Amino acid sequence: MAKRRVRAASAVTAIGMLLVGAIVLASGGLRAAGQRSESEIIQAIREEGFARSQAMETVSWLSDVFGPRVTGTPAIESAKDWTAERLRAWGLGVSEERFQYGRGWSLERFHAHLIEPQVMPIIGYPRAWTTSTNGTVTADVVRILIQSQDDVEQYRGTLAGKIILMQPTRTVAMLEEDLVLRMDEALLDEATRPVEGASQQQGSGGTGARIEDYVNDFLLEEGIVALLDRGSDVSFVGGAPSGGQLVWPTQRTDGGTVFVGAGGSRAIDATPVVPTATIAVEHYNRMVRLLDQGVPVRVEINIQTRFHEEVRPNGFNLIGELPGTDLANEVVLLGAHFDSTHASTGATDNAAGVAAMMEALRILQAVKAQPRRTVRVVLWGGEEQGLLGSRAYVARHYGGSQSPTPEHASVAAYFNLDNGAGRIRGIWRQGNEAIEPVFREWMRDLADLEVTTVGRRSTRGTDHVSFDEVGLPGFQFMQDRLEYNSRTHHSNMDVYDRVQRDDLLQMSVVAAIFAYRAAMLGELPPRKELR
Ligand SMILES: [Zn+2]
Repeated sequence: MAKRRVRAASAVTAIGMLLVGAIVLASGGLRAAGQRSESEIIQAIREEGFARSQAMETVSWLSDVFGPRVTGTPAIESAKDWTAERLRAWGLGVSEERFQYGRGWSLERFHAHLIEPQVMPIIGYPRAWTTSTNGTVTADVVRILIQSQDDVEQYRGTLAGKIILMQPTRTVAMLEEDLVLRMDEALLDEATRPVEGASQQQGSGGTGARIEDYVNDFLLEEGIVALLDRGSDVSFVGGAPSGGQLVWPTQRTDGGTVFVGAGGSRAIDATPVVPTATIAVEHYNRMVRLLDQGVPVRVEINIQTRFHEEVRPNGFNLIGELPGTDLANEVVLLGAHFDSTHASTGATDNAAGVAAMMEALRILQAVKAQPRRTVRVVLWGGEEQGLLGSRAYVARHYGGSQSPTPEHASVAAYFNLDNGAGRIRGIWRQGNEAIEPVFREWMRDLADLEVTTVGRRSTRGTDHVSFDEVGLPGFQFMQDRLEYNSRTHHSNMDVYDRVQRDDLLQMSVVAAIFAYRAAMLGELPPRKELR
């Protein structure tokens, strides 16, 4: 039923496109010689973005050259300097704002080999904000089971000099479902179905007293060599639309890919965390089976990590700007997070989003779009630790929903990219029903780029939320996730090769067109009422 309605609507859209085309042509004819119509400028945006893109080069620099861009590290500072220079070279205004962050953390060395029963290189990656081993150490591996504080006592005094496994095996499924997620008609259709009262947040780790805390204290006291894990049981959790049945039909790939998070805290006064590495589930399972069979397991391991405290404050947002004309005091914001997690080069999360948004601004400048409103790109720091950069920026410039600054009224819209490197298929309306016809109007002539869908749900988990929370119109683009869920999100395989050029160019062009459209609207787009 719903699907048929969508088809009928697209027939209406096709007629609408013809009408709009005719109107645009007519109004274009009334313009002074040499002055281009909006549709001519949009055509120029497409040509510039598809024929002369620099976006893949940007991704390569950010990911291949600067590598992991964890907030508070020398690597992200170098990446920022390069990016600022690039924006300047494109003729854009550049500025930088800093915020307090805590300690940066980076990896200096890791290797691990199974030594007994025979040699095998172990695939793995240390968890962020964990400490170092005392150089290369060879030690017996033991498995322990701690489910409560009482369980600690049976192991006390027995773990010094050992490498510890604490999880059971995890069953590794044969790969059979779709691993590359392109949104098909059914998924796009499902995305347009509103969900009542749908705003529940997906958890990203609870707070308060956790079993991990007293276990870490115990393992520190014992003097273990290292703790090895095989990642969590949960498959993909990040960024899915809230409230409902929209299930992304992908599974995690495993097979040598490790999905590795933080193991400690960036807080200056945090307790040290034992050297900890996430290793390939298949290698982990092997060691557990060996131990279960009574076969001794020895591992040689070296983990060297470094905490960075040298730059203060060490969080930053980098801002690029194309000034508007008659409405320059009003602003359209584009954004993506500049930081990454630590276990790979952050190509799809989120060098791709950064490159697309930078490219969108470059295109607008290159075609001399002369938007009425200022178009500003903000590249956020500290997103991975809880939207820290965007929250700092919003608080500084716009205040809260109860105490808005005068600048609060000047924001036309904020558009965010952070769901991998796949093309834009639409946008989530984020509870703002009045914006839907505006987006539909903009999408009328984007059907050939496969941008068709206004999602009637809200997404969370990334930087548009910082705007949404204080009553500003912040939106997340709907993207084909490609291998984001199955392979690249926070894994050791988030690399340049997983970024698809055609998709990235489309992202850049669509973001440029949305920014241009928002910058040219007669009135500021509607906001939703704050609850
Ligand atoms: Zn991200």
